[in-house]
Amino acid sequence: DSTFRPAYLAKLNAEQCVAVEHGDGKVAGPLLVIAGAGSGKTSTLAHRVAHLIVRGADPRRILLMTFSRRAASEMAKRVERIAGEVLGRDASVITDALSWAGTFHGIGARLLRDYALEIGLDPAFTIHDREDSADLMNFARHELGFSKTEGRFPTKGTCLAIYSRAVNAQAPLGEVLGSVFPWCAGWAEQLKVLFARYVEAKQAQNVLDYDDLLLYWAQMAGEPEISAHLGGRFDHVLVDEYQDTNRLQASILAALKPDGSGLTVVGDDAQSIYSFRAAEVRNILDFPKQFARPAEIVMLERNYRSTETILAAANAVIGEASERFTKNLWSERKSTEKPKLVSVRDEAEQASYVCQAILTEREAGTALKAQAVLFRASHHSGPLEIELTRRNIPFVKFGGLKFLDAAHVKDVLAVLRFAENPRDRVAGFRVLQLLPGIGPSAASQIVDTMATSLDEAMGLARYRPPQRAADDWPGFVALFSQLRTGSGKWPADLEQVRLWYEPHLDRIHEDATTRRADILQLEQIASGYASRERFLTELTLDPPDATSDEAGPPHRDEDYLILSTIHSAKGQEWKNVFVLNTVDGCIPIDLAVGSKEDIDEERRLLYVAMTRAKDGLHLVMPQRFFVHGQAARGDRHVYASRTRFIPASILGAFEQTSWASVQAKDDPRRQPQVRVDLGARMRDMWK
Ligand code: ATP
Ligand code: MG
Repeated sequence: DSTFRPAYLAKLNAEQCVAVEHGDGKVAGPLLVIAGAGSGKTSTLAHRVAHLIVRGADPRRILLMTFSRRAASEMAKRVERIAGEVLGRDASVITDALSWAGTFHGIGARLLRDYALEIGLDPAFTIHDREDSADLMNFARHELGFSKTEGRFPTKGTCLAIYSRAVNAQAPLGEVLGSVFPWCAGWAEQLKVLFARYVEAKQAQNVLDYDDLLLYWAQMAGEPEISAHLGGRFDHVLVDEYQDTNRLQASILAALKPDGSGLTVVGDDAQSIYSFRAAEVRNILDFPKQFARPAEIVMLERNYRSTETILAAANAVIGEASERFTKNLWSERKSTEKPKLVSVRDEAEQASYVCQAILTEREAGTALKAQAVLFRASHHSGPLEIELTRRNIPFVKFGGLKFLDAAHVKDVLAVLRFAENPRDRVAGFRVLQLLPGIGPSAASQIVDTMATSLDEAMGLARYRPPQRAADDWPGFVALFSQLRTGSGKWPADLEQVRLWYEPHLDRIHEDATTRRADILQLEQIASGYASRERFLTELTLDPPDATSDEAGPPHRDEDYLILSTIHSAKGQEWKNVFVLNTVDGCIPIDLAVGSKEDIDEERRLLYVAMTRAKDGLHLVMPQRFFVHGQAARGDRHVYASRTRFIPASILGAFEQTSWASVQAKDDPRRQPQVRVDLGARMRDMWK
C-alpha cells in the first residue's frame, strides 16, 4: 500500500526524503546525492534501501557497495532496524538477504567465481595481496633480466604501482609515466614487456591481483551476453563514498546499468582522498550528465554530526582550498567550546596528552569507544600505542591486523592458498621452502612437476625430494592431499595445517610460543567464515582490525579506544576526535615531492579528519617528530611547525593550548589552595 507513509520518514528532512522516496520503491532513473560531511548521506542511503524493501523490493536483488566490509555489514544491520519498524519480525531476515552488500573488490571476487567458466577463468583462482603481487612482479623482472640492466630499473614496488595506476585509471602507459612517474619514462618499452609477462604469469598460475577483480569485472560486464545477465540480477545498485571510485569502477556501474535505472550514488567531492589509487573525483561530478535519462540530484546542507564550532573550523580549513566546493554546510548544534590546537614538545608528550585527555573524558562519562585517535600514516601512532599499552588502555587499530603481516601467519595462509590453488607459485614457493633441505631451485622444480601432471597431489607424491627433506616429505604430501580432496572440514583444515606446521615453527623461530598463539587466534577468526575460499578471499581483501589485546579482539561489548588512519576513518564519527601530528611534514605528509594536486588532497584529508568529530576535536602538534629516513639521511628528528592548512588567518576558529596547561591542572605535587579551616570545624562540632 503506497499511500501508507512509514514513520521513519518523519525523522528525515525534506531533501533526505526526496532521496529516500525517489521512485518510491520502484526501479527509477539515476539518483545522485552530493552533500557535505555529516549531512546524512550514508544514513539516507540506509533509509533508501530499507524503504525499497518496505515497498516490496527483493533484498537479494539489491547490490550495495560501500568503502569497507565493516561499513557494509553495519549498513545491512541498520537497514534491518529501519525496515523492522514497519515489517516487524518479517524484517529479521534482511541482513542475511542483503548478501550483495560489500566492497567493489569483494563483490567482484564473488561474481568472478560465479561466472568463471563463462570467461575462461578457473573458479579456484586465488587472490594476491599487494605484497604477493610485488613478489610475482619481481619474478618476472628477474626472468627478463631487467633487474640487472644498466642504470636503475624501477623497483618491484614501483613497477607494480605503475601497472596498477594504468589499470585503474584506464590510461595508456605513456600517459601514466608522463604524469605520475616521470623518472621512469625512459623504461617505457621494458615496462610494457614486463607487464605482458606479469599478466601471463598470473594467468598461468590462476591468480588474480586486486586490480584484476575490477578489471575482469569491468571486461566481463562489457560483454553483451554476460552484461544483460549480470545487470539483470540486480534491480537496484547503490554506492556510498562515490567520490573515491576510479574510472574502472565507474565503467562497471555503467555496464551494469547502461541507462542508469535503479542506480543511486552518494558522495562528497570535498572528501575525495584516494587519487593516489587513481580515484577520479570527476566520476561524481560527471554523473548527472552520464545517462540519456537525466539524474535526479539531491543536495543536503544541514550537518547533524558536529557542533557549530567544529564545523566552522573545518569549513575554514577547506575554504582555503583553491578548488571551490559548492556546498554550504550548517549545523544547529550550539557549543561554546572551540576545537583545540595543542602544542606539545614531541611525540612522547603527544602520547601523554592524548592518554590524559582520553582518561579525563572517560571519567566524565564518555566511553573509550566514543573516542578516536586519527593520524595520517599508520606508523605515526607508534609512540601512542606504547603509552596506551603501558597504561592498560585497550585499543583497536583499524586497517590491518598486524599479525597478518607476520611471517608465521603468512606461512599458514600460504599452505591453505597453495592447497586451494596449486598453481599459485608465490604461495607454493613459500610453503615448500618451509621444509628443511628445499631451497628456491627445488621449490621451483616441484611447482613445475605439479603443473605438468593432471592431478597436483599425485604430481607432488611422485616428486623425489632431496635427501635432507626425505623425512618431512611424506607428512607434507599427506597434508596437501587431504586439503586438496576437501575431505577436511572448515575450519578444521586450519587446525590440520597448524599441527603440521608446529614442529617447523619450533625449528624456524625462537619465540614459537607467542607465534603459536597468533595461529590459534587465526583459527578463531577462521571460524567466522563459511568456507576456506571465503576466508582466504575476505582476509586478503579486507583484513580484520588489529588490537592491543594479545588474547584476541576485545568482545563487542567491551570498551576500547579506536586508532585509525584518516583514510580508514572515512564515513565514521566519534564524540571526541584527536588528530596526531597536525604539522607540516605529516599533514601534508611529504613536502618535498608534493605537487599542487597532492597538497590539495592532503587538505581534504585534514578536512575528513576534522569532520569525524561530534563534540570535541583536538589537533595535536608536536614541535618535533621522528622520521624513518631513506638510506643516506637515516632516521632523525625533524623540527615541525603547525600545518600550513591552518594559517594565521583562521586561527581564530581554534582554542590554542599546550600540554603544559593540562599538566598543571593535574600535577599531584601542586598544592591546592587551602579554602577550609578544618581546625575550626572540629572545634565547632563540639559546640
Ligand atoms: P560523511 O560525509 O562523513 O560520510 P554522511 O553525510 O554520510 O557523512 P551520516 O554519517 O549519514 O552523514 O550522518 C551523520 C550523523 O547525522 C549521524 O549520526 C546520523 O545519524 C545523523 N543524522 C543524519 N540525518 C539526520 C536527521 N535527519 N536527523 C537527525 N540526525 C540525523
Ligand atoms: Mg557517509
